[in-house]
Parts: sequence; C-alpha cells; structure tokens
Amino acid sequence: MESSKRMRAVLNRRSFLRLGAASGALAAVGGMATTQGWLAPAQATAAPEERTAFTYHNEHCLCNCMLQCTVRDGRLVMVQPRPNSDKRFQNVCLKGISEIEHIYGEARIQSPMRRVGERGSGQFEVISWDEAFKIIAENFQATIDKYGSQALWIQYSTEASQRFSPLLASILGAQAGGLNGYDMGQGNGQGQAFGWSGMFALNTIWEWKQANVVLMANCNVLETGMMWSRAFLDAQAAGTKIIVLDPRFTATASKADQWVGLRPGTDPAFFLGMVKYLLDNDLCDREHMLAHTSFPFLVNAKTGEVLGEMHDTVDKETGKPKQVKAPYVWDSATGAAVLHDTPGAQPALEGTFTVDGVQYITEYDLLKQQMADYTLDWAEGVTGVPADTIAQVAREYAKGPSIICNGVGGIDKF
Ligand code: SF4
Repeated sequence: MESSKRMRAVLNRRSFLRLGAASGALAAVGGMATTQGWLAPAQATAAPEERTAFTYHNEHCLCNCMLQCTVRDGRLVMVQPRPNSDKRFQNVCLKGISEIEHIYGEARIQSPMRRVGERGSGQFEVISWDEAFKIIAENFQATIDKYGSQALWIQYSTEASQRFSPLLASILGAQAGGLNGYDMGQGNGQGQAFGWSGMFALNTIWEWKQANVVLMANCNVLETGMMWSRAFLDAQAAGTKIIVLDPRFTATASKADQWVGLRPGTDPAFFLGMVKYLLDNDLCDREHMLAHTSFPFLVNAKTGEVLGEMHDTVDKETGKPKQVKAPYVWDSATGAAVLHDTPGAQPALEGTFTVDGVQYITEYDLLKQQMADYTLDWAEGVTGVPADTIAQVAREYAKGPSIICNGVGGIDKF
C-alpha cells in the first residue's frame, strides 16, 4: 500500500486502463501490487499447481449460482457449476463462465482512484485502499462533527450493499434507505396498491407450477435470472398460465401465455383497477379475509380510527413495558362489539354498527370506500389496457391459487 504513495503518477482514466492491461506497465503502477498476480500471464511450469475453489455468483442476477472454480498457478482458468444433489441449483450461465474475462479484462478497475482534475476532466490518480478508507472515514467524521451522525445517509442499492449498508448505517448511527434500484425490479408504487412493496411474492419460483395463474410485473426473468427459467417453463408445462405485465415485448413476454402491454409506470393503476373489479364482483375470499386479515376490525366511520382497548404488554425486543390496542369486531351472533379473538364470535365483514352512539364500519367497507374511484374505465385511461382485459386478468387471478411476482432481477438487469 505504501508503494502507491511513491508512484502517484497522475493518470487519466483511459491511460490508466491501458496501462493496467499491460503487464509491463504494472511495474510502474505499484499501487496495483495486490493484483499483479492476477494479471500476469499464466506461467507454464512443468508441474502446474492446481486447486479447486468454491464460491457463488454474488447477487449477479439473484440466481446466486454456486460455482466450482479451477485455479491454476494462481490464476482462474475455469468456472463450472458446483456439484449439487439438487439439480435445480447446479447451474451456471454464460455470464458466470465469463467471469474469467471480467476478472482479467483490461476494463476492470482494480484500485481506488482519486479525482485530481476538474469534475468531468477524467483526471484520476491511483491510491491505496488504506488511503481510500482514510479519506472516507475523515469525511464521515467531519460530517458527524459538524452536523451529527443523522446527517450521514447510506444509500442502499443492488449487489454490493444489500447486506452491509444497513450494518454500516447502524454502526455510524446514520440514516439509510432507498429502493434497491431499477435493476432490482422493484415495482414502484405497489405499496399503495397492495399494502406492501416487497420485490418478491411470498412463494418461491419453484412453487409456480402449483398456481393457476402467475402474474409477472416488471420482470424479465428469462433474461435476467436465467436459472429460474426452468421453473417458469416447468410451471407452464404443469398448466400454470403466465401473464406478463410489461410495456415491452420482452423475451419473457414472448414466452408467456399472455402479454399485457401497459404504459410504463402504470402497473399500480392496473392493480388498483383489478382490486376494484374483484371487490365489485365479490370475487374475494371471504373466509380467508375473516380468518387471516384485519378486514373485520371496526373503525370509526368518520375518522377511520380502529375501535379497541389498550392492553399492557412487554416489547419483545427491548423488554420494556408498552401498550397495544386490541381491536374489536362486530359479533353477528350476539349483535355486539367484542374483542377480535373472543371465542365463538362470528365477525361481520361488512355493515354499519353503532357502539356507544358512534358509528363504526369494518376495515373491509373502508377499503371499498377508498377504492371507489379506481374503476376499470379509470384504469384503462391510465394504463392504456382495455377495461375488458383488466377484468379478464382479475377473474383468472381470482380463481386461485395465484401468485404475483414483481421481482427476479428487474426488467433489464444486464
Ligand atoms: S444465472 Fe448466470 S449471471 Fe445469474 S448467478 Fe447464475 S451464473 Fe451468475
């Protein structure tokens, strides 16, 4: 690392890359000493030293293929799928195999660089990792000293930061967040439509074949998560209908059973139209809603506040006492508001009820009120998809079991 300080030759980025490609030049860029072994041409020896190393393709396309690598004389020479008794996970694609070119390619930047010219001038100098960490730490410290740790923001993104940025933020007391990124295929706005914004549905891709319909939004799995195409095709072979929502006629759309080409960024409107149609046509699973959701809970008809009583409890994480509100439902059997877990109670899913002179409705009714404007005609106007098509997708989805997938490496991960 010390050597980098001695060589401080100012390089612009292009010349740096050219130099990096040539082994003779490596002697001049001593800051790259740690990578010299990688970049040096393989030396033929009478008895090459060969070993096998195991790793995985970290977050490259979310398939995370497990790899078996052959290293000969200190140089990676072959990438193969790692043997696995479960053949679903014994894979590699051309991108994985070509990691050899990635590692030894002349375009790879292998050392930290500091800009030394005007922004945009392309003037950089190579610095050591120690120096890079020092600069970052000093800047963090200066910000904390001046503004406090909450002024630091650690941005999440795909690949490198998924696991470590939350840790870094918690160590520093910094703020952190952000979507995983465009390439992660996170459907923006789906939180409003579904109440959650997670990138994956709750089922794994291997369960798709048990579904009646798989509705894929914002993902092009046949190109962006190639190992999972097998599950896609297995599901189709098993009779699952795959419907792709995508503005583009992607490879995945071309293999799907139905492609719905909606306007970019309008998928939440498509889903809102679907939900309204399901509510209007009573295509919801009432038994499920009563047993597993908060839809029967009573809420104030004017304010939306949940009717309930406060209970003392202990916070599981902190061990400190806290209060939680236990919600009420309307018990159709007794015609009274009771705690939601009252044995023998028969909660009503819909209706207007008076408790102590105040009117209450159920959360299900509140949802219906809130969805009033999201008609099929409205959804057609926003998405450009005919109302009949939205209704058809909603009906087929409602038959169940169905899966929504809005992840798998984004619409164009590579
Ligand atoms: S499918 Fe290809 S790119 Fe994706 S993790 Fe596997 S080897 Fe890497």
